[in-house]
Amino acid sequence: RKMDKILILEDEIGIRSFVSINLKREGYEVIEAGTGAEAIEKLSTEKNISLALLDIMLPDTSGIEICKYIRKEFDNMGVIMLTAKSQEDDKIEGFQSGADDYIVKPFSIKELLMRVQALIRRVKKDSDSKKNNMINTPPFLLDPNKRKLYKNEVEVDLTPTEFSIVKYLMTNDSQSLSRDQILEEVWGSADLYDYKIVDVNIRRIRNKIEDDPSKPKFIQTVWGYGYSFRRDE
Ligand code: CA
Repeated sequence: RKMDKILILEDEIGIRSFVSINLKREGYEVIEAGTGAEAIEKLSTEKNISLALLDIMLPDTSGIEICKYIRKEFDNMGVIMLTAKSQEDDKIEGFQSGADDYIVKPFSIKELLMRVQALIRRVKKDSDSKKNNMINTPPFLLDPNKRKLYKNEVEVDLTPTEFSIVKYLMTNDSQSLSRDQILEEVWGSADLYDYKIVDVNIRRIRNKIEDDPSKPKFIQTVWGYGYSFRRDE
Protein backbone atom coordinates (compact mmCIF):
# COMPACT_ATOMS: atom_id res chain seq x y z
CA ARG A 1 0.00 0.00 0.00
CA LYS A 2 1.16 3.45 -0.91
CA MET A 3 2.40 5.50 2.04
CA ASP A 4 0.19 8.41 2.98
CA LYS A 5 2.03 11.70 3.24
CA ILE A 6 1.35 14.04 6.15
CA LEU A 7 2.53 17.62 6.62
CA ILE A 8 3.06 18.81 10.17
CA LEU A 9 3.36 22.56 10.66
CA GLU A 10 4.39 23.27 14.25
CA ASP A 11 7.02 25.70 15.51
CA GLU A 12 7.55 23.96 18.86
CA ILE A 13 10.22 21.49 17.89
CA GLY A 14 9.50 19.14 20.81
CA ILE A 15 5.89 18.64 19.78
CA ARG A 16 6.78 18.48 16.09
CA SER A 17 9.41 15.73 16.56
CA PHE A 18 7.21 13.76 18.91
CA VAL A 19 4.27 13.76 16.49
CA SER A 20 6.55 13.11 13.54
CA ILE A 21 8.24 10.09 15.15
CA ASN A 22 4.90 8.58 16.07
CA LEU A 23 3.40 9.11 12.62
CA LYS A 24 6.46 7.50 11.01
CA ARG A 25 6.15 4.57 13.38
CA GLU A 26 2.59 4.11 12.08
CA GLY A 27 3.94 3.95 8.53
CA TYR A 28 3.21 7.49 7.35
CA GLU A 29 5.62 9.63 5.40
CA VAL A 30 6.07 12.92 7.27
CA ILE A 31 6.95 16.37 5.95
CA GLU A 32 7.91 18.86 8.67
CA ALA A 33 7.61 22.64 8.69
CA GLY A 34 8.29 25.12 11.49
CA THR A 35 6.98 28.30 9.86
CA GLY A 36 4.15 29.25 7.52
CA ALA A 37 6.62 30.11 4.77
CA GLU A 38 8.25 26.70 5.08
CA ALA A 39 4.84 25.02 4.91
CA ILE A 40 3.91 26.90 1.72
CA GLU A 41 7.23 25.87 0.20
CA LYS A 42 6.74 22.20 1.12
CA LEU A 43 3.16 22.26 -0.13
CA SER A 44 4.31 23.49 -3.52
CA THR A 45 7.18 21.02 -3.92
CA GLU A 46 5.85 17.82 -2.31
CA LYS A 47 3.21 15.96 -4.29
CA ASN A 48 0.16 14.12 -2.98
CA ILE A 49 0.02 15.23 0.63
CA SER A 50 -3.08 13.54 2.12
CA LEU A 51 -3.35 15.52 5.31
CA ALA A 52 -1.97 18.60 7.07
CA LEU A 53 -1.66 19.13 10.83
CA LEU A 54 -1.56 22.88 11.42
CA ASP A 55 -0.54 24.68 14.58
CA ILE A 56 -2.26 28.06 14.86
CA MET A 57 0.30 30.26 16.65
CA LEU A 58 3.35 30.48 14.39
CA PRO A 59 6.24 32.94 14.27
CA ASP A 60 5.39 34.35 10.84
CA THR A 61 1.66 33.75 10.32
CA SER A 62 -1.40 31.98 11.64
CA GLY A 63 -2.14 28.34 10.85
CA ILE A 64 -5.58 29.56 9.83
CA GLU A 65 -4.02 31.41 6.89
CA ILE A 66 -2.26 28.21 5.83
CA CYS A 67 -5.59 26.37 6.07
CA LYS A 68 -7.19 28.95 3.75
CA TYR A 69 -4.30 28.54 1.33
CA ILE A 70 -4.70 24.75 1.31
CA ARG A 71 -8.43 25.06 0.65
CA LYS A 72 -7.79 27.38 -2.26
CA GLU A 73 -5.02 25.31 -3.83
CA PHE A 74 -5.78 21.65 -3.07
CA ASP A 75 -9.03 19.81 -3.64
CA ASN A 76 -8.51 16.73 -1.61
CA MET A 77 -6.36 17.34 1.46
CA GLY A 78 -7.54 16.81 5.04
CA VAL A 79 -6.76 19.52 7.59
CA ILE A 80 -6.55 19.14 11.38
CA MET A 81 -5.85 22.26 13.45
CA LEU A 82 -3.73 21.98 16.58
CA THR A 83 -5.16 24.48 19.05
CA ALA A 84 -4.41 25.52 22.61
CA LYS A 85 -7.16 25.42 25.22
CA SER A 86 -7.30 29.20 25.35
CA GLN A 87 -7.91 29.48 21.62
CA GLU A 88 -11.64 28.79 21.54
CA ASP A 89 -12.23 31.64 19.06
CA ASP A 90 -9.40 30.47 16.81
CA LYS A 91 -11.00 27.06 16.73
CA ILE A 92 -14.21 28.49 15.31
CA GLU A 93 -12.25 30.64 12.87
CA GLY A 94 -10.29 27.55 11.86
CA PHE A 95 -13.51 25.78 11.01
CA GLN A 96 -14.73 28.74 9.00
CA SER A 97 -11.54 28.65 7.00
CA GLY A 98 -12.24 25.01 6.15
CA ALA A 99 -10.52 22.76 8.70
CA ASP A 100 -11.92 19.22 8.95
CA ASP A 101 -11.06 18.66 12.59
CA TYR A 102 -9.17 20.14 15.50
CA ILE A 103 -7.30 18.71 18.44
CA VAL A 104 -6.61 20.60 21.67
CA LYS A 105 -3.09 20.74 23.13
CA PRO A 106 -1.87 18.98 25.15
CA PHE A 107 -3.23 15.93 23.32
CA SER A 108 -2.59 12.24 23.66
CA ILE A 109 -0.69 10.78 20.72
CA LYS A 110 -3.17 7.90 20.60
CA GLU A 111 -6.05 10.29 20.05
CA LEU A 112 -4.13 12.21 17.40
CA LEU A 113 -3.32 9.00 15.52
CA MET A 114 -6.95 7.89 15.61
CA ARG A 115 -8.12 11.22 14.20
CA VAL A 116 -5.42 11.20 11.53
CA GLN A 117 -6.39 7.70 10.47
CA ALA A 118 -10.11 8.53 10.42
CA LEU A 119 -9.58 11.67 8.35
CA ILE A 120 -7.31 9.97 5.83
CA ARG A 121 -9.91 7.26 5.41
CA ARG A 122 -12.56 9.92 4.84
CA VAL A 123 -10.54 11.95 2.37
CA LYS A 124 -9.81 8.86 0.29
CA LYS A 125 -13.10 7.05 0.64
CA ASP A 126 -15.09 8.53 -2.18
CA SER A 127 -12.19 8.84 -4.58
CA ASP A 128 -11.42 5.14 -4.20
CA SER A 129 -14.89 3.78 -4.83
CA LYS A 130 -15.48 3.51 -8.54
CA LYS A 131 -18.62 3.89 -10.65
CA ASN A 132 -20.89 5.72 -8.27
CA ASN A 133 -24.01 7.09 -9.84
CA MET A 134 -24.60 10.78 -10.21
CA ILE A 135 -27.16 12.19 -7.81
CA ASN A 136 -29.49 14.55 -9.61
CA THR A 137 -31.59 16.63 -7.24
CA PRO A 138 -32.33 19.92 -9.01
CA PRO A 139 -30.93 22.51 -8.63
CA PHE A 140 -28.11 20.20 -7.50
CA LEU A 141 -26.05 17.65 -9.33
CA LEU A 142 -23.56 15.62 -7.31
CA ASP A 143 -20.78 13.68 -9.00
CA PRO A 144 -19.41 11.14 -6.46
CA ASN A 145 -16.56 10.06 -8.74
CA LYS A 146 -15.13 13.50 -9.27
CA ARG A 147 -16.27 14.58 -5.79
CA LYS A 148 -17.95 17.66 -7.16
CA LEU A 149 -21.23 19.36 -6.42
CA TYR A 150 -22.96 21.69 -8.86
CA LYS A 151 -25.81 24.08 -8.17
CA ASN A 152 -27.53 25.33 -11.32
CA GLU A 153 -24.55 23.94 -13.22
CA VAL A 154 -22.07 26.06 -11.27
CA GLU A 155 -19.53 24.17 -9.18
CA VAL A 156 -19.83 24.64 -5.42
CA ASP A 157 -16.43 24.75 -3.71
CA LEU A 158 -16.62 22.19 -0.87
CA THR A 159 -13.97 20.77 1.47
CA PRO A 160 -13.63 16.94 1.52
CA THR A 161 -15.60 16.80 4.77
CA GLU A 162 -18.34 19.07 3.50
CA PHE A 163 -18.60 16.99 0.35
CA SER A 164 -18.96 13.76 2.36
CA ILE A 165 -21.73 15.30 4.47
CA VAL A 166 -23.64 16.62 1.45
CA LYS A 167 -23.32 13.26 -0.28
CA TYR A 168 -24.62 11.42 2.79
CA LEU A 169 -27.56 13.81 3.19
CA MET A 170 -28.47 13.76 -0.51
CA THR A 171 -28.20 9.97 -0.75
CA ASN A 172 -30.72 9.78 2.09
CA ASP A 173 -32.87 12.75 1.12
CA SER A 174 -35.97 13.52 3.21
CA GLN A 175 -34.74 11.23 5.97
CA SER A 176 -33.81 12.65 9.37
CA LEU A 177 -30.18 11.82 10.07
CA SER A 178 -28.91 12.16 13.63
CA ARG A 179 -25.64 13.85 14.46
CA ASP A 180 -24.38 10.47 15.64
CA GLN A 181 -25.19 8.93 12.27
CA ILE A 182 -23.44 11.78 10.46
CA LEU A 183 -20.37 11.42 12.70
CA GLU A 184 -20.28 7.65 12.13
CA GLU A 185 -20.66 8.00 8.37
CA VAL A 186 -18.42 10.98 7.72
CA TRP A 187 -15.87 11.03 10.56
CA GLY A 188 -15.90 7.25 11.08
CA SER A 189 -16.76 7.42 14.77
CA ALA A 190 -19.29 9.13 17.01
CA ASP A 191 -17.23 8.64 20.16
CA LEU A 192 -14.19 10.73 19.27
CA TYR A 193 -16.03 13.90 18.33
CA ASP A 194 -18.54 16.35 19.73
CA TYR A 195 -21.68 17.52 17.92
CA LYS A 196 -20.26 21.00 17.42
CA ILE A 197 -18.07 19.74 14.61
CA VAL A 198 -21.18 18.58 12.71
CA ASP A 199 -22.97 21.86 13.32
CA VAL A 200 -20.10 24.09 12.13
CA ASN A 201 -19.73 22.04 8.97
CA ILE A 202 -23.47 22.26 8.29
CA ARG A 203 -23.33 26.03 8.81
CA ARG A 204 -20.49 26.26 6.33
CA ILE A 205 -22.33 24.13 3.77
CA ARG A 206 -25.48 26.24 4.14
CA ASN A 207 -23.48 29.37 3.43
CA LYS A 208 -22.36 27.75 0.20
CA ILE A 209 -25.55 26.10 -1.07
CA GLU A 210 -28.59 27.84 0.39
CA ASP A 211 -30.19 30.86 -1.31
CA ASP A 212 -30.71 32.36 2.15
CA PRO A 213 -28.47 30.60 4.74
CA SER A 214 -30.49 32.13 7.61
CA LYS A 215 -33.63 30.41 6.26
CA PRO A 216 -32.25 27.10 5.01
CA LYS A 217 -34.49 25.33 2.52
CA PHE A 218 -32.35 22.36 1.48
CA ILE A 219 -30.60 21.33 4.70
CA GLN A 220 -33.17 21.50 7.44
CA THR A 221 -32.53 21.20 11.15
CA VAL A 222 -34.31 18.40 12.98
CA TRP A 223 -34.38 19.94 16.44
CA GLY A 224 -32.56 18.06 19.13
CA TYR A 225 -31.64 15.34 16.64
CA GLY A 226 -29.84 16.23 13.46
CA TYR A 227 -30.41 17.25 9.87
CA SER A 228 -32.42 16.36 6.82
CA PHE A 229 -32.00 17.15 3.13
CA ARG A 230 -35.16 18.30 1.34
CA ARG A 231 -35.62 18.22 -2.37
CA ASP A 232 -36.71 21.42 -4.07
CA GLU A 233 -40.39 20.76 -4.77
CA1 CA B 1 2.97 27.45 18.04
